[in-house]
Amino acid sequence: MEITKREIFHQKELSEDETNPWQNALIQLNEAAKVINLDNNILKILERPATTLITTFPVTMDDGSIEVFEGYRVQHNMSRGPCKGGIRFSPSVNIDEVKALAAWMTWKTAVTNIPYGGAKGGVVVDPSKLSQSELQRLVRRFTYSIISLIGPNSDIPAPDINTNPEIMAVMMDTYSMIKGHTELGVVTGKPIEVGGSLGRKEATGRGVYITMEEALHQQNKQCCDGVKIAIQGFGNVGSHFARIAYENKAKIIGVTDIFGGVYNPNGLDIPDLISYVENSGKRSVVGYPGADPLPQADIFSLDVDVLAPCALENQITTSNAEIIEASLIVEGANGPTTPRADKILNERGIVVIPDILANAGGVVCSYFEWVQSLQSFFWSDDQVNNALSNILIKSFKEVNLYKSRYNIQDLRTAAMCLAVNRVAKAIKLRGIFP
Ligand code: NAD
Repeated sequence: MEITKREIFHQKELSEDETNPWQNALIQLNEAAKVINLDNNILKILERPATTLITTFPVTMDDGSIEVFEGYRVQHNMSRGPCKGGIRFSPSVNIDEVKALAAWMTWKTAVTNIPYGGAKGGVVVDPSKLSQSELQRLVRRFTYSIISLIGPNSDIPAPDINTNPEIMAVMMDTYSMIKGHTELGVVTGKPIEVGGSLGRKEATGRGVYITMEEALHQQNKQCCDGVKIAIQGFGNVGSHFARIAYENKAKIIGVTDIFGGVYNPNGLDIPDLISYVENSGKRSVVGYPGADPLPQADIFSLDVDVLAPCALENQITTSNAEIIEASLIVEGANGPTTPRADKILNERGIVVIPDILANAGGVVCSYFEWVQSLQSFFWSDDQVNNALSNILIKSFKEVNLYKSRYNIQDLRTAAMCLAVNRVAKAIKLRGIFP
């Protein structure tokens, strides 16, 4: 009896050590260190985060009871400037995940050559289970718990999974109240009314689109008339990427989210799907009338040109790397591909635009927001989008130059080599204190 692709996906068990994000971040770092022959003393520094803060903090719930939450802020490296990185709210977030995400921020800011180091934060919480006032109290108390680390010159948080501009406004307000003056530059991803930047909301998705366009051009493919795309995750990154690709005539045939998925071989009407999601109580694509249901795992085996994982880590693994049909993967999410899956994809000739390049549009635009906040002088939409596009295209070219210079097979290792070299140079130039 013939085994279908879907059955292969379900038959394979993932080995436990494939999916630890921190272990995977170290594998990627060591791979790059080998290629560029990195000084072992520098490698020792980069293999450890500079600061790891684990906090437990109480929050009063609406019924008067007290819940205690665990939160993290990790600063991986600050040799190139203040630390930068988002805050994630999720019941499954853990310290190894945050350490990996912080390291990836160090590499992302270095690949794009913006003057930051890398950090990340998280709180173990399902915010959908909290009322608005409970959420606000949690955000304020968490901000207070990490206040010794954050600041416009030291460490600047931003939104990530399950956090948003409104939460950033509350973080900025809490910090400002404690310091006694308004400090717009302490967080990015804020609403426009309180120092946010035009273009920031969609910047990550726009960056995913820009890097995809560059890669397709490199493969002598027209972008994007008729290019078929499958997208996992339809939140901030996935939905903005989908909309921009749709506006440029791409055909998005499959989309999944945490609840399920939808499929239309003729292409989904993305603006209509976005408004369906916004108006559906669950904020999900499930039940969208203009499409058939799609099981979540099937997003990887759709017959498409481009696969865009825009949800979370460890989605492309040894269990499904062999069934991917796309010739290009553009990583909207952080860490969606395990190093073992990377090997399979490379052997199969599938090009992967790595997270530290593909989703860097968010942090690049956050950098623009920080600059605007510090100067209290704000840019137009066009200024933001042109500057974003220039930086990402330049970074894409520099990564490709590294790929040929060091005779590297894949873009992830090339991007890592470029980033690690930049950070290593900064460490050497500054020297070790004292
Ligand atoms: P989000 O919370 O807005 O959206 C996440 C989406 O993923 C939702 O649609 C959710 O339903 C879906 N999802 C969750 N689990 C899933 C699963 N098991 N299968 C399918 N879909 C699933 O988050 P976001 O801000 O869009 O972030 C998504 C990814 O992009 C994360 O890895 C994040 O770190 C990364 N990222 C975000 C930004 C940013 O600016 N927001 C910047 C760079 C990288």
